[in-house]
Amino acid sequence: MSELDYIRWIRSQTPKAPRVLLGPGDDAAVVDWATGKPCVVTTDMLLEGSCFRLAEAGPYLVGRKALAVNLSDIAAMAARPVAAVISVGLPRQGGREIAAELYRGARELADQFETPIVGGDTNSWDGPLVISVTILGEATDRGVVRRSGAQPGDWLLVTGPLGGSIQGKHLTFIPRVREALRLHEVADLHAMIDISDGLAQDVNHICEESHCGAVLTAEAIPITEAARKMSDAKSPLQHALSDGEDFELVFAVSREDGERLPRAELGMVKIGECVAEGLWLEECGVRKPLEVRGYVHEF
Ligand SMILES: [Mg+2]
Repeated sequence: MSELDYIRWIRSQTPKAPRVLLGPGDDAAVVDWATGKPCVVTTDMLLEGSCFRLAEAGPYLVGRKALAVNLSDIAAMAARPVAAVISVGLPRQGGREIAAELYRGARELADQFETPIVGGDTNSWDGPLVISVTILGEATDRGVVRRSGAQPGDWLLVTGPLGGSIQGKHLTFIPRVREALRLHEVADLHAMIDISDGLAQDVNHICEESHCGAVLTAEAIPITEAARKMSDAKSPLQHALSDGEDFELVFAVSREDGERLPRAELGMVKIGECVAEGLWLEECGVRKPLEVRGYVHEF
């Protein structure tokens, strides 16, 4: 299949969307931004061998994940996704089938979040699969939520259980876009981040940007079944604290908002509080320094 055939096929698969004035097939796409709200842009590139194993995950789930991680970043800003562009570097071997399945995986999730895929680029080469997604989102009337803004005394909450995502959740998670928008309506979100590097590390990102500290309560941290079943040297709690790619949201709100939120209904759990400085783990009432050991890209 040539790139032209692929574009023709994608055009035939692309439904009309109200804000897409011009979709795939021209030199650039045109998206209606007459709402006047700020554009929130995020991009993420996934590399075979580093971010996924194509033979294990299959191209459908890789396409889905590439879109999902970007939706998660839009969620972390409490913004609304509007449109996506996807670029791929396809391996020459089997590129045609991979291209179709990548698109299908991305498209199914995009449809669930009403995020039309408006364009992209397709190349093939002698290297492994590379897929890069960019999402254009839109701030709500309440603006975006940044990592800065947490204050000592704030509660820290998380949207779901953590750890062991390598067992499958890193490919199949549902980005917390709806939860973030709902929270943004009912509470004054001081700071928020999606957990990509691991809970301890991502809470540390909030602390650094907010110039405060945090104490996490070991017994309160929700842990996935997957993390409990892992049989390596790490405890389930250690998995929950340091495993990457959970893609839940961690956020800081005032104590008053924290108490008021329908936490059980929203599936949210208080895991700690912000303090003046330091990063701490409190276990059985004893406070110890929390080592930040999450995933870091080295280069
Ligand atoms: Mg993020």
